[in-house]
Amino acid sequence: MDPAHALPAGPPFTIRARLLTTLASGGVRYEPDAGIEVDVAGRIAGVERWDGDSGPAATLDLRPWVLMPGLVDLHAHLPQLPNAGVGAGLDLLTWLERYIFPLERDFDVPTAELIAPAAFRAFARAGTTTVVAYGALWPESLDACFRAAEAHGIRAVIGKVMMDRLSYDTDRDPTEVLELSLRQSTELCATWNGRDDGRLMYAFTPRFAVSCSAAMLRASALAASEAGAYWQTHLSEDREEISEVKRLFPDAIDYTDVYDRAGGLTPRAILAHAIHLSDREVERLAESGAVVAHCPSSNLFLASGAMPLARYQAAGIRMGLGSDVAAGPDAPLFSVMRAGAYTQNALRAAGLSGAPPLSPADWLRLGTLGGAEALGLQDRIGSVEVGKEADLIVVDPSVTLPLEGVGAHDDGGPDEMLSRLIFRAHPSMVRGAWVRGRLLPA
Ligand SMILES: [Zn+2]
Repeated sequence: MDPAHALPAGPPFTIRARLLTTLASGGVRYEPDAGIEVDVAGRIAGVERWDGDSGPAATLDLRPWVLMPGLVDLHAHLPQLPNAGVGAGLDLLTWLERYIFPLERDFDVPTAELIAPAAFRAFARAGTTTVVAYGALWPESLDACFRAAEAHGIRAVIGKVMMDRLSYDTDRDPTEVLELSLRQSTELCATWNGRDDGRLMYAFTPRFAVSCSAAMLRASALAASEAGAYWQTHLSEDREEISEVKRLFPDAIDYTDVYDRAGGLTPRAILAHAIHLSDREVERLAESGAVVAHCPSSNLFLASGAMPLARYQAAGIRMGLGSDVAAGPDAPLFSVMRAGAYTQNALRAAGLSGAPPLSPADWLRLGTLGGAEALGLQDRIGSVEVGKEADLIVVDPSVTLPLEGVGAHDDGGPDEMLSRLIFRAHPSMVRGAWVRGRLLPA
């Protein structure tokens, strides 16, 4: 293995590598020796089995590294990254007060200019080429986050957090907050949504029903739909949170209905967690086309619950994966897949799920094409196929070996390799990440 491989910094280029990708038509494609051609516009122009002399001219032979589609993280919080892994054993609302609101309160422009670039480098190191993230309440620091994403090269959907109660903005007259927050969000959306041919996108971001009045939820959903932007919030994460929502919205049928009444449940809605749903809620989410960002490592860290993934999949809910850093302690989605698999195993072992376990390829799909479909970007990203934009990662599976110097990283087939990438994920196994063929700083 040569870690000094000089990876191509920008398109066009052709890479020779092993290839492992989900396919839009279903299933997975594995090639032990493939040529992947990226054209000058950063699109995938060729994906061929390497055929000796007749293959495309390689600029770089990366074998035995594996080329894969970039990962899509549907849920993260940029200001929270410094506290990742801190506060184990606390419930959601206590953890927010103690470890999160102080960070977000202090998320001014200089702080954002320090944290956001470091966060995007961390996502790139983790293999995440698309991230959907919350900022803090402050519009200036959200603007700094977008500038950092623009400069870094990552594909990002970001939004300024909106809250008109249970907020850390205690200086302001609450009656002004809704109008101000809406105006700030709309201005940020006008500036950033669709920037760089859609690489940067905006999400109106009411934090959750505990922090938002019905008027705030309604106004943000309307603004998102008028602007063609995403709308992101949290749903049904923690039992105490659910009780609080019931108290705050006594007329709503359930938590999901709070967002439904606000006009929020559309195919552009990204709802994090959604753990404790009734059958009615599951049915309504599937019908609405709203997306669930499944965040199993976060759900285990805060002991929020175990999402019944199989039940939601059977109902047809659109889903992808989220790290939810910092309630999730790790940015890498490979670790999130592992937490998700363990959660489903625990549900089966406890007799709470009769569904067959997801295969490693199923988890990869959730973290790539599933996320792309959730964002409506399946024509652009999510798999290594001709015509798509070259959002790619290259992974060194040798570092996942149990014993140094024993065995080979290509023992078995792609299923075995992918199983190790998930269950023995190594912090430095992602050796490079590209968006549209541009190498991301990591
Ligand atoms: Zn979250």
